[in-house]
Amino acid sequence: MKYTVITGASSGIGYESALAFAARGKNLIIAARRTEELEQLKATVADMNPELDVIIRTVDLSVTANVHEFYEGLRDYQIETWINNAGFGNFASVGEQKLDKIETMLHLNIEALTVLSSLYVRDYAEVEGTQLINVSSGGGYVIVADAVTYCATKFYVSAFTEGLAQELRGKGAALQAKVLAPAATETEFAQRSLDVDEFQYKGSIPKYHTAREMAGFMLDLYDSQQVVGIVDGTTYEFQLRDPLYPYVSRMRN
Ligand code: NAP
Repeated sequence: MKYTVITGASSGIGYESALAFAARGKNLIIAARRTEELEQLKATVADMNPELDVIIRTVDLSVTANVHEFYEGLRDYQIETWINNAGFGNFASVGEQKLDKIETMLHLNIEALTVLSSLYVRDYAEVEGTQLINVSSGGGYVIVADAVTYCATKFYVSAFTEGLAQELRGKGAALQAKVLAPAATETEFAQRSLDVDEFQYKGSIPKYHTAREMAGFMLDLYDSQQVVGIVDGTTYEFQLRDPLYPYVSRMRN
């Protein structure tokens, strides 16, 4: 049995992507901190297709020790696709941002993603049909005012994943690494970024996608041979692209 791992599957893009992969007949390993939401997702998948296996992992991935434990606990499963989607943002100026939240953001958006990507590459680089998809942002290519630190984490995600994709291609590896870069998407993202209990996208944000639409783009990227799937921040059109950052390879003496 093969599995698709999705971190941050308890809401938003991760939740809808889990449903989209389930609709493709993929067994799932879904992770986040909220067990109840993951149980609800598992029940929805069971209604869609009772044949599918759905494994739940309740884990706080902002704690490094948990990240290693989470990966080690999946050793018995054959993982066809690994999606690092868990992440959050923050809207504040650098001088005013709350550092405890920022430190957690760096641990989750950067550290957990790097550790999980590295371990997955170590084990699966030579396995045919495998993919690693890391969720960045349009803010991983353009710096957005009042979200400088969040964007910097996503620049990291984009640079790391594009570089990894180049490295794997250079070695002729079987594993493909890809970046999904959404623009505004209707999820719990805004309320978490703003530290508010509720947020209405309609009327507040001129253009956005639904999480279901973004999950459709995730599948488009999954199906393609391209490295980057990015939403154009002006037209909101989804584009499949080659890596966007310059990449050099230098010989060592
Ligand atoms: P969301 O609805 O807030 O989903 C975030 C997911 O991450 C949730 O399942 C959440 O689950 C999980 N998560 C948060 N902290 C976690 C932790 N410490 N450990 C484990 N899981 C954690 O937002 P979303 O928009 O779907 O976000 C998904 C990804 O898309 C993020 O990487 C985000 O940066 C990116 N993105 C979003 C937008 C947008 O406009 N929505 C745009 C560009 C990029 P729990 O709270 O249950 O742990």
